[in-house]
Amino acid sequence: MSARIVAPTPDALAEAARILRAGGLVAFPTETVYGLGANALDDEAVQRIFDAKGRPATNPLIVHVASEAAARALARRWPESAARLAAAHWPGPLTLVVEKTAAISDRVTAGGATVALRVPAHPVALELLRRADRPIAAPSANRSEEISPTTARHVADSLGSSVEDLIVLDGGPCPVGIESTVVDVTGAEPVVLRPGTLALTFSPRAAGTPGSDPTPARSPGQHARHYAPRKTLRLVRAAEPLPAARAGDAWLELPPQPEAAAQRLYAELRRLDAEPGVERILVREPPSGPGWDAIRDRLERAATRGGEGG
Ligand code: AMP
Ligand code: MG
Repeated sequence: MSARIVAPTPDALAEAARILRAGGLVAFPTETVYGLGANALDDEAVQRIFDAKGRPATNPLIVHVASEAAARALARRWPESAARLAAAHWPGPLTLVVEKTAAISDRVTAGGATVALRVPAHPVALELLRRADRPIAAPSANRSEEISPTTARHVADSLGSSVEDLIVLDGGPCPVGIESTVVDVTGAEPVVLRPGTLALTFSPRAAGTPGSDPTPARSPGQHARHYAPRKTLRLVRAAEPLPAARAGDAWLELPPQPEAAAQRLYAELRRLDAEPGVERILVREPPSGPGWDAIRDRLERAATRGGEGG
């Protein structure tokens, strides 16, 4: 077992697309994090994702497509809000939850009647989706509960021992660095299920109705512990005095701009998690203010002990 990190040449993309069409797994870069992809119309292929990650079957997957037209083809209805949000943000780090058609494997949706769809903005992901010519289910390319990968090396480190000859298309470090904003558009108003970087400039409710709700609603698979290092992560609240320094403490320092902080977050967590001598990772609560919700959400999950992940 081992992973093969390859440059996204036309030959490598052709081979990766062939593997996906044949029911296999491929890891590829997106603008958010690296994904572990499989044909979303093929039950057995999708099951391979859950096996490789050790992901609970109750945690649904996001399906990636190359265009809004391809997304519509997988939805029973395409609400006006979906059309508006897709026009504004696709390709990009926005996932839309809609009613699914029968074509989508029930494993993808954890048995649910809705499917999460996204058109990623990364050129390697888009080219792979075009060549594979099928919807590709792709959660983050890490073992369940581990920190999401933002480089090809992270993927190889996480999955190299659980997938036979995994091809990892190397697109360099992911430019966004944290998972997409997930928005449910099945109801009367769009509802944010998981914050992401789109909150920086945009609130789905504000686009239609004033008064957006900053608290994400419940979403299947939003288990408390997720995106977590193996070491203890201590989130130090703004109002709290600094904890007494102990041997083995290391501070996670993030850039002052939320975009840059998101981009660095997982790589820094992985670095400190792997650093010998570090026993506890401390991080200051992010400032309140636009753009920091998604980072706060990921840090709070990473600081939680116990529970399922993905
Ligand atoms: P990831 O692990 O980044 O692939 O994220 C997948 C997440 O998307 C899940 O954990 C859910 O929170 C969310 N998700 C996927 N499918 C659905 C769905 N049908 N309804 C609501 N949320 C979903
Ligand atoms: Mg994940």
